[in-house]
Amino acid sequence: MFGPLISKPSTSKANKTGSWRVEHKPKFLKKDCIACKMCVLICPEACITGEAKNTYDYDSNFCKGCGNCAAVCPKKDILMVKEEE
Ligand code: SF4
Ligand code: SF4
Repeated sequence: MFGPLISKPSTSKANKTGSWRVEHKPKFLKKDCIACKMCVLICPEACITGEAKNTYDYDSNFCKGCGNCAAVCPKKDILMVKEEE
């Protein structure tokens, strides 16, 4: 009865929230990573995946550029860079 105005509940995984990102994005250097998973745990979009050292990366379709991952990485193996880089 309300037609297309009502949509189903969803999650940030289903909706590509990466379109909201402004100015900065993370860059995973993959040099000194120790696979501690801190970046995975802190990411509010659950868009970081990886298994072993130097394999962690993020999905830009969902990243909002908050910088949490770079701030928490104990090895400084994630940098926040300008969107165009
Ligand atoms: S910048 Fe924020 S949203 Fe993007 S991958 Fe890092 S923690 Fe996740
Ligand atoms: S926080 Fe840094 S060291 Fe830990 S898994 Fe992520 S990239 Fe690797």
